[in-house]
Amino acid sequence: MSDYRKMWADLGLDLDAHDQLLQALPPTYHDVYLTQTNRPQKMDYFDFVVNEIHGLRIQELQQHKQQGGKVIGTFCVFVPEEIVRSAGGICIGLCSGLETGSGEVEKILPRQICPLIKSFMGFKLGKICPYFESCDLVVGETTCDGKKKAFELLNDYIPVHVMETPQMKRERDYKLWLKEIKDFAVKIEDITGQKITAASLKQSIIDTNAKRQALLRLASLRRHKPAPISGKDSLLIEQIAMYDDVTRFTQKVNELCDELEERINSGTGVAPANAPRIILSGTPMAIPNWKVPHIIESTGAIIVAEEMCTGLRYFEGLVPEDASSLEEAYANLAQRYLNINCAVFTPNNNRTQRLMELVEEYQADGVIHVSLSFCDPYSIEATQVEKACRQAGIPILKLETDYGQEDTEQLKTRVEAFCEMLR
Ligand code: SF4
Ligand code: SF4
Repeated sequence: MSDYRKMWADLGLDLDAHDQLLQALPPTYHDVYLTQTNRPQKMDYFDFVVNEIHGLRIQELQQHKQQGGKVIGTFCVFVPEEIVRSAGGICIGLCSGLETGSGEVEKILPRQICPLIKSFMGFKLGKICPYFESCDLVVGETTCDGKKKAFELLNDYIPVHVMETPQMKRERDYKLWLKEIKDFAVKIEDITGQKITAASLKQSIIDTNAKRQALLRLASLRRHKPAPISGKDSLLIEQIAMYDDVTRFTQKVNELCDELEERINSGTGVAPANAPRIILSGTPMAIPNWKVPHIIESTGAIIVAEEMCTGLRYFEGLVPEDASSLEEAYANLAQRYLNINCAVFTPNNNRTQRLMELVEEYQADGVIHVSLSFCDPYSIEATQVEKACRQAGIPILKLETDYGQEDTEQLKTRVEAFCEMLR
């Protein structure tokens, strides 16, 4: 990595704490990713992106800002990135996949709270995330109580705009959500100083659809036996999708897919055709949270899809590109985003129904449901998911974990026993 220290210092990072963070990442990445055998060659680009995670992309964000551009951070796939892009902004998914700064965080948040919430507070209080420090605004949502209340506290450190996300999907909820999207557009216009036009939103929808289509193409290639790419590599790409340059990322995913198609034609896979095929379902796995996928694939099983927000929930569902007015484009966005099957909705039967379809489509042998500790929506909904799987005769394993490593051996034992049963 080039020397980015001046850039980090100018961003106000705590350089010592940041150094420690950067030292921890390469060994983990090596163990989890670089020891995999028979990886597609086109994963080189994604390895490069991780290697430059606090370097090149941050430099690009700074250049954008120097030219008057704005950077908007988000924590949830409900926030319509198309709107940010249509006003000339860059939308960045802030990761929150690592435990950091717990001491400081626990002074203002309860100890027993979802690790994702603790993580984003830890990154901000500790001043160790250059993405966070590059943001002109962060966008929160009222998806769950923990997040909703934590955003009030976060607002003391950085401007936060909160979108009210509905918890049901009736006509009146749709109307509320449409209004929220329009208010969000006004806020973004205000921050960027650029008007959103029907033409700029249409182009942004086209670009974002292209990114989602590339990810859908990747997902559909994973339906083949033997799987042409590991679940860990696929998850990494889904994580990088949240913050990389949209056009470049789309091109690189499509290049990877070209290679995967060649692999499929020649029968090349990353695991034997009879390896147990798993669908991961549950809370999002933000970078660098690779603990459970690493444990699963270390048993010789292969993850073939993620029914998660770092996965299919992020890229299933495109926005129509033929809206004849700004009003119609906003309505299309509202419709598309309200279809996301997050566990904060009640009822959320579409999620279990989609999961059952995915098991068929991806020729899966079982489901592993992973909830983050203290996440009520997903931990409670795990019971519905389990019930649906049992009724359909699909083996399921339910796990609950956090970002620590203390439970690794215990998780390994349970995952190994489950995968052995699927053989
Ligand atoms: S799980 Fe729900 S709250 Fe979390 S990112 Fe996904 S949609 Fe947003
Ligand atoms: S993982 Fe659960 S508790 Fe944590 S932010 Fe998401 S919905 Fe809320």
